[in-house]
Amino acid sequence: MAQVLLKVSGLEVAYGGIQAVKGVDFEVREGELVSLIGSNGAGKTTTMKAITGTLPLAGGDIEYLGKSIKGQGPWDLVRQGLAMVPEGRGVFTRMTITENLQMGAYTRRDKAAIGEDIEKVFTIFPRLRERKDQLAGTMSGGEQQMLAMGRALLSRPKLLLLDEPSMGLSPIMVDKVFEVVRDVYAQGVTILLVEQNASRALALADRGYVMESGLITMSGGGQELLANPKVRAAYLGE
Ligand code: ATP
Repeated sequence: MAQVLLKVSGLEVAYGGIQAVKGVDFEVREGELVSLIGSNGAGKTTTMKAITGTLPLAGGDIEYLGKSIKGQGPWDLVRQGLAMVPEGRGVFTRMTITENLQMGAYTRRDKAAIGEDIEKVFTIFPRLRERKDQLAGTMSGGEQQMLAMGRALLSRPKLLLLDEPSMGLSPIMVDKVFEVVRDVYAQGVTILLVEQNASRALALADRGYVMESGLITMSGGGQELLANPKVRAAYLGE
């Protein structure tokens, strides 16, 4: 079996006195695409923020590559290969496409290879090449999503966390985004995907977890969950 890259145990996260994540366990193995699904407010984004060091833990532990990363900040984690594309993308709107991509490589010292990697991102997303000198803030939501993913790839991640990449996009862009997620996964990047689009996210996933009210309530293979009547009733509108 492949190495466990990420292991979340008994994770608890609170906002003031309100507990949003109430003791969650899951893991992601090297080479896997794991989807975390659930409705609005289930605690998915909060879980992602705890993993990437942007929210403190109220309990439990998070291990990355076999070691606790509790208390480490996002910068340290990116340097160790753990990159996140946040919900709402967070591109630098007043910088060009190329500058945004260069920012993604800020933890790297291999300057020569960065140019090659930017070329690779332009191959995956031809739209970004066409607009490489344009300010990111002038692009559509879908284009900004592509840029945010490209920027994360520039850190050469071992584990890529994607928070709702399809949110707010047109159906065509949603198709494109899931296509790219599949391509990046096929290139060997391990992915933890948070999505409200349960059918698409589970169809791609090796494994999935269902989160409800701060707890994981179901887990299994992607196809297995997709066929599960409870999942179909709750998340696929059947
Ligand atoms: P969504 O898809 O809507 O982002 P989610 O599953 O990612 O949903 P979270 O954003 O993690 O859910 O929210 C989990 C719970 O924590 C919700 O009840 C939410 O209202 C609460 N919450 C989130 N952010 C904050 C905050 N900054 N302050 C207080 N409560 C918050």
